[in-house]
Amino acid sequence: MRVIGSCRCGLVALAGALWVLTATAPSAAAVQAAIAPGAAAVQAMAEPPASDEPAIVTDPTSPTATSQEAFDPEKATEAYLATLDEETRAKSKEYTEGGYWLGIISLFYGLAVAFFLLNTGLSARMRETAERISGKKPLQTVLYGVQYILITTVLLLPLSVYAGFIRERRYGFSTQSLGGYVSDRFIGLAISLVLVSVLLVLLYGAIRRAPRTWWVWGAGVSLAFLAVVAFISPVYLAPLFNRYEPLDEGSLKDRVLAMARANGVPADEVYQYDASKRTTKISANVSGFLGTTRISLNDNLLDRGTDEEIEAVVAHEIGHFVLHAAREFFVFFGIVLVVGFVFVRWGFDRALARWGSTWGVRDVGDVAGLPLFLVLFSLYSVAISPITNGFIRSSEVEADIYGLNAAREPDGFSTIILKLGEYRKVDPGPLEEWLFYDHPSARNRILMSMRWKAENLDESSD
Ligand SMILES: [Zn+2]
Repeated sequence: MRVIGSCRCGLVALAGALWVLTATAPSAAAVQAAIAPGAAAVQAMAEPPASDEPAIVTDPTSPTATSQEAFDPEKATEAYLATLDEETRAKSKEYTEGGYWLGIISLFYGLAVAFFLLNTGLSARMRETAERISGKKPLQTVLYGVQYILITTVLLLPLSVYAGFIRERRYGFSTQSLGGYVSDRFIGLAISLVLVSVLLVLLYGAIRRAPRTWWVWGAGVSLAFLAVVAFISPVYLAPLFNRYEPLDEGSLKDRVLAMARANGVPADEVYQYDASKRTTKISANVSGFLGTTRISLNDNLLDRGTDEEIEAVVAHEIGHFVLHAAREFFVFFGIVLVVGFVFVRWGFDRALARWGSTWGVRDVGDVAGLPLFLVLFSLYSVAISPITNGFIRSSEVEADIYGLNAAREPDGFSTIILKLGEYRKVDPGPLEEWLFYDHPSARNRILMSMRWKAENLDESSD
């Protein structure tokens, strides 16, 4: 739920964890970058920006009619969109649509890697190696998991380097050196080795102990695991990638904390972090869970945003907090996981009956079947991505409206949303937005702000 970049961060840790595991996710970092992984039928829906109407006023600070005339939210929205220059617009369109293709290619590439592991018998040999080293099932699972992560990391390397480094540099979004990128990847790899090992031991423990009802336990174990990761992430994981420090003292911080107190957020601190060492993208997030919840602003936002814009962003983040986005997300993903495990169970049994002996996979409790498990889970995730995107999008709309009410900065919100237009197409077609966008499009978010403004014109006009 990034307003802007990734207020979903903590939640993405959840949603992403299974993706991290899957061969379709090029890397832990790319999980965040992945825009609606997979899914087809893309380019055709892309519509050219529709703002050919004469710009009413091009000054972004007052793109509207004056107070003497009736304020028209639609026209004000068009005026804002018209302030984006053609070059930026074309670049973000290309970047966004390229992201769809990248998602599709990642999916098929990941599937190919998984079937390679199964068909060559490599997966079965990895299990045999693990069994030779240890007689204990949990340790065998860990040993298999380590081999799996290392081998898939290597096999997926070309794609993940392209997506996470080369492409970002080509579009001018990455500020990272190759050394910095490699170091990120090693940290991500180390985290994956630990977390994935834990998850696999829990998951396969459940499968072996409850051969008939493992799908319920599997979903429960995965959800609990995701909750723990979300809980520890802001305190233990995020600082491995970025330096977090309290926002500088000053009037901005005072206003932000006043807004937090006024909205019942028990925060006495707001954090900033050094995202600029990696990217030019602006971002803010609310991460964590229960006691570790915190709001963090990236330094690009602080450098490039006006006070009004930053307040609008923080108010959106506060909205997530107050509206219990994390709690809703857990309930929603609990259901998604249970249904997913039912599908995986169904698919696994059928695939195993047919190809089990070819692959050397004995049964669902055999860790050598992990690639198949993840293939099924990936297909499921792609198939339901319009539903998950829709769920997240609706939670973003709620936070947007909450943020408008709390900060009362419809113009600040609109201009910061436009800055996102640098890398997220501002004006997708309705079907495209429905399928791929986990945030409302810039057009819809600005229109929402302008409608709010129209109803609050007396107070908000400066
Ligand atoms: Zn959000």
